[in-house]
Amino acid sequence: MNNIYFIGLGNMGSHMALNLIKKKYPLSIFDINSKLYRAFANKNVKIASKPIDLAPENNVFISMLPDGNALMKLLLGGQGLASKIKKNSIFIDCSSSDYASTLKASNILSKRGVKFLDAPVSGGVTGAKSASLTIMVGGEIKVFRKAKKILSCMGKNIIYAGKTGSGQIVKACNNMMLGINMIGICEAFLLSKKLGIRPEKFFDICSKSTGSSWAMMNHLPIKGIVKSSAANNGFKPGYAAKLILKDLKISQNMAKAANVNTEVGKKAFFLYKKFCKNNQGNLDYSAIIKKLS
Ligand code: NAD
Repeated sequence: MNNIYFIGLGNMGSHMALNLIKKKYPLSIFDINSKLYRAFANKNVKIASKPIDLAPENNVFISMLPDGNALMKLLLGGQGLASKIKKNSIFIDCSSSDYASTLKASNILSKRGVKFLDAPVSGGVTGAKSASLTIMVGGEIKVFRKAKKILSCMGKNIIYAGKTGSGQIVKACNNMMLGINMIGICEAFLLSKKLGIRPEKFFDICSKSTGSSWAMMNHLPIKGIVKSSAANNGFKPGYAAKLILKDLKISQNMAKAANVNTEVGKKAFFLYKKFCKNNQGNLDYSAIIKKLS
């Protein structure tokens, strides 16, 4: 069985790592925030004080970091994990990282004989908890086939997207739809309420109508209707607004590079930028309803 090193134990990573433990994989873990080890008390895991410490013992690496900058820091920064990974290991970046960092990470690691997959996920914290994530994977198909069993412990739909970076292209475009969607949901609930329709009634009807969406059914920005909504919990993330801002920025950069006009995606990016400016970036992304009210 592979020894797995899981790096980044935040809102998503902690549950993904716990699911690997459930499947009895030997696991080493690391996060720069040592408080996050509490969730692993009494679990059979090795905890690293520096990422390089346990690198030689492992042959599969999974990162679940905020972004591509954090990935670069992990691989090349003071801790320099890239230089300590054994040849023929597989490094799987499940973070939503930007395309340029993804290609850079893949090149650096392949020069050292390490295989790289970009494997960002979709499904939110509930999907991470219930191991029902959709995982979209870029990289060599034969490496994908090797890693699929491990990814299946954390997700339900494990889908090959194409060459290196393809997973991140799909993820950024998916999240552009999600951000646009959330803003649309906020506007529709605010408008219908203003015109005298109770949110409960509006939800009841729209959940059976064409305006329904995954975001509305799972992340409704109104308290007391959908169990998994961050609105029930003072907008504690979930999926932090600063993370969707990062994803919208990635999709805007991609659009610019491809010379494609994504007008509404651009608008969503600016609305989230404004929202995060007022120190709201650590709230759930659905909290943007406050800015739109
Ligand atoms: P998070 O901020 O809760 O977790 C990230 C973790 O990485 C933190 O615990 C942080 O301390 C750690 N970290 C940062 N730099 C590090 C380093 N150099 N070495 C080790 N640890 C480091 O974020 P999250 O919500 O778990 O999201 C993780 C990734 O998944 C992001 O790219 C996000 O966009 C993506 N994502 C999030 C969701 C969601 O609903 N939260 C859904 C799908 C995808």
